[in-house]
Amino acid sequence: MTEIIDGKVASQDVVAEVKRLSAELAVSGGTPGLAVVIVGEDPASQVYVASKSRMASECGFHSVQYSLSSDTSENELVDLVCKLNFDPQIHGILVQLPLPSQIDTGRIIQAIAPEKDVDGFNFINVGKVGTGELGTAFIPCTPAGAMLLIERVRGKDLTGLNAVVVGRSNIVGKPMASLLLAANCTVTIAHRHTRDLATITRTADILVVAVGKPELVKGDWVKPGATVIDVGINRVPALADGTRRTTLVGDVDFGAVKRSAGAITPVPGGVGPMTIAMLMANTLVSAYRAVGMVAPRFDEAKRSHMDDN
Ligand code: NAD
Repeated sequence: MTEIIDGKVASQDVVAEVKRLSAELAVSGGTPGLAVVIVGEDPASQVYVASKSRMASECGFHSVQYSLSSDTSENELVDLVCKLNFDPQIHGILVQLPLPSQIDTGRIIQAIAPEKDVDGFNFINVGKVGTGELGTAFIPCTPAGAMLLIERVRGKDLTGLNAVVVGRSNIVGKPMASLLLAANCTVTIAHRHTRDLATITRTADILVVAVGKPELVKGDWVKPGATVIDVGINRVPALADGTRRTTLVGDVDFGAVKRSAGAITPVPGGVGPMTIAMLMANTLVSAYRAVGMVAPRFDEAKRSHMDDN
């Protein structure tokens, strides 16, 4: 019987813990603060930003949103980031991507202070994740959430399992591979130039797909019993006649793959809700660190690994 991994329930568990710890921190006089910055009017980004700000408020955080016009200059955005870097009420800074073309995204990401980089995109945090320094890193939210879902199904010891990550982006594929490596999996990373992808995906005990191609992974690409984590979010026509209505699908052919997989995340309702929950977790951790208190852990299983190489 294939398990459908419920990301909504898992994310609610994380958020409940964040709320509890946020209330505990408040007793000591601390309130986690999250600043979300959006530049321009991209409708999808507006929706993401609104839900992040709303969730932050629900968690008891000090939540501020900066909505800047699409003609904002790079220097204006750097100035805002620097101001937030020095704001003691702010513990997490999130600049919603993509940014308009006149702004160098890399410069903005690197301008965010590493200790407030709750997205985990800054070189310092990327380096810590890559070298297994997970205890003091901010782990990017989507792979961090995917790891928690994997651990819910496979338990906390993933030692020796074959993991295949399809996609090598800096925000999902690469950090995902680093986390699985830190958990002692044997990791293969596949990407757009990989030959005979299906042969590689069939070796996976854990298959994570983060590509952005609707239903790329077919039923016979997956080993029986594998845990399949579908990160992809693709908007496709809902009806065969291609009329305007659309629906969301992942990078995995859910209907076919669920017949062979041991466990699989749905789209929507799988990895997506975890991403926002882990953003709250990272902001909470940042606030604990800022007041010098021992930061809570949301990634227990990975802590003690990478003790050797
Ligand atoms: P990206 O475009 O930056 O990277 C895509 C990767 O897929 C690249 O490494 C590329 O080499 C690889 N690729 C492309 N075509 C391929 C093919 N035919 N075979 C094998 N590999 C191929 O994308 P991203 O930012 O990593 O996002 C990937 C998907 O995950 C998107 O659908 C995105 O919307 C989704 N996403 C979801 C969440 C979430 O919260 N659930 C968060 C981030 C991204």
